[in-house]
Amino acid sequence: MAGLSRILSLVTRRIERDILHRLLEGVDRDERVVYVTELVGCTLKPRLRRLAPMLAATVSFEPPVLIGSLVHAAVERIARSESSNVETEVEVSREVNGVLVKGRVDLLMRRDDGSIEEIVELKFTRRAPQQPKPHHVMQVRVYAEMLGCEDCRLYVAYLAPDRLAVYEVRRLNEPLLEPLVRDYLENTYAPRWDWECRYCPFRRICPKAPAEAKEREKGEG
Ligand code: SF4
Repeated sequence: MAGLSRILSLVTRRIERDILHRLLEGVDRDERVVYVTELVGCTLKPRLRRLAPMLAATVSFEPPVLIGSLVHAAVERIARSESSNVETEVEVSREVNGVLVKGRVDLLMRRDDGSIEEIVELKFTRRAPQQPKPHHVMQVRVYAEMLGCEDCRLYVAYLAPDRLAVYEVRRLNEPLLEPLVRDYLENTYAPRWDWECRYCPFRRICPKAPAEAKEREKGEG
């Protein structure tokens, strides 16, 4: 029983840390700070997150998010124990046009000379997609740009109950970060993706949430 209590305590601590992290992303945040995960999505969402940080934190209690968070932690720990060239949860930041962009790379592999060999964005999902999702592709490309790695390989990996799907992402020659920051400053895409409002924790208070997202809201009641 002592072992089980210890595991439960570790699990709870990990979940609490994630919830706190989500809360802090919104509370007391300067509008000149934005996360990479936000840049690749709806440009209105970071603004609503600052207005209602608790709403964003509520998604942390949803079972798929809880499971995803734990799987993430397990994979990262295993990867680190396998090789000293592997780094996990690597913090990155860059100032662009007066905006501080922050991010966290899931997995990063280095060559023996210290240069970056691979960057992996890890996703836990109910069903692995047949191709990488566009916002995940953008995310890993932005990380590569922020890290300044010229010849590293990029991957998006989906861990699903039925399979593990790993997709290599092609590098782009043109910069992505600067246009994304411009989109954010000008609030260009609300939403950026057609599915986004249906899963958005702010749809209840968002003036741009379409009827379809509101329908889901009624259905949930
Ligand atoms: S409901 Fe839609 S438009 Fe509004 S913040 Fe969420 S994703 Fe953006």
